[in-house]
Amino acid sequence: MFIGVPKEIKNNEFRVGMTPTSVREVVARGHKVVVETNAGIGIGCTDEDYIKVGATIAQTAEEIFASAEMIVKVKEPQPVECKMLREGQLLFTYLHLAPDPTQTELLQESGCTAIAYETITDAKGGLPLLAPMSEVAGRMSIQVGAVALQKANGGLGTLLGGVPGVAPGKVVVIGGGVVGLNAARMAIGLGADVTVLDRSLPRLAYIDDVFGPRLKTQYATIDATEELVLQADLVVGAVLVPGAAAPKLIKKAQLSQMKPGAVLVDVAIDQGGCFETSKATTHAEPTYVVDDIVHYCVANMPGAVARTSTFALNNATLPFTLALADKGWKQACADDAHLLNGLNVHAGQITYEAVSEALGKEF
Ligand code: NAD
Repeated sequence: MFIGVPKEIKNNEFRVGMTPTSVREVVARGHKVVVETNAGIGIGCTDEDYIKVGATIAQTAEEIFASAEMIVKVKEPQPVECKMLREGQLLFTYLHLAPDPTQTELLQESGCTAIAYETITDAKGGLPLLAPMSEVAGRMSIQVGAVALQKANGGLGTLLGGVPGVAPGKVVVIGGGVVGLNAARMAIGLGADVTVLDRSLPRLAYIDDVFGPRLKTQYATIDATEELVLQADLVVGAVLVPGAAAPKLIKKAQLSQMKPGAVLVDVAIDQGGCFETSKATTHAEPTYVVDDIVHYCVANMPGAVARTSTFALNNATLPFTLALADKGWKQACADDAHLLNGLNVHAGQITYEAVSEALGKEF
């Protein structure tokens, strides 16, 4: 198959659909890859790196969209890209169509077949192509929280690990899923005093098993959440209620009872945020202060570590990219129901029920 990798054009997106490592894998299976010039520059991969593993370089996105049978990207296609997609062409990328009627219509009009990373499933009921970004955001949450706790950044002036003779900082992680587990891991690594709250007892049992006595778990009642939050130096919001906006677990009135200079990192901001005072911020201006509490609410945290994020994403997408290239989408989806769950649009039709329901369109 002839695979095309255009440079991402969404504002501040530095990731790329395929790393040179992934290109080498598909080329080794006899496929051809064309990469737009400088597509990998944001992750430190040059055109030379792609040429070395057998890719050709195109000067424009138009050349790629005009010739490739499959387009591999990261972000949803922007309108100008949607207009370049062709009937019968395969698009493999994040789409997030449910809240995006414009993109959905443009994809339908193009006649392409669009497989969305975010709706591909796995045997455990997870979303394997979303998990790497949650891992990144979870690990980053402690890093950004630790920086926000510094005085110069409006924080309390607590060092999460403490020092001999001074107690470590208290980290409370609300939601012990993929983000929460990775946040806990980083916080423990720094030597912080860590508690994870969740509403799922099996999940708390799992986390307890993984970390043993180095971490405390607590069932996420209103009481327990409030008690822990009021003592915390750093709170990470990492809840997800599938298909719903995040519940507001810390109310504005509680902020004045917290330690002045404590930090809230709301990773769930992409689902509306789980603190009442959260509003989405950007990497350029990631924090703001409400009632002496520092808020960090960046909706695309993995973008800050584009290199790690791209490699992590490619580890998860590569097996599917290979299956699609080797077999074509029809056979690959016939052989793998989890990949079939990724099919969102085909030949002008919406093929994913939740998207058609969200947009009130025919399925
Ligand atoms: P997940 O499904 O793995 O985990 C969510 C956890 O929240 C589950 O264990 C669930 O039991 C728990 N939960 C639900 N309601 C709760 C409540 N009221 N109190 C306590 N726990 C509760 O999800 P995830 O992959 O960890 O993602 C978490 C959030 O982070 C999602 O909203 C996701 O979209 C977001 N996210 C944001 C970024 C970013 O850049 N900001 C990046 C990746 C993921």
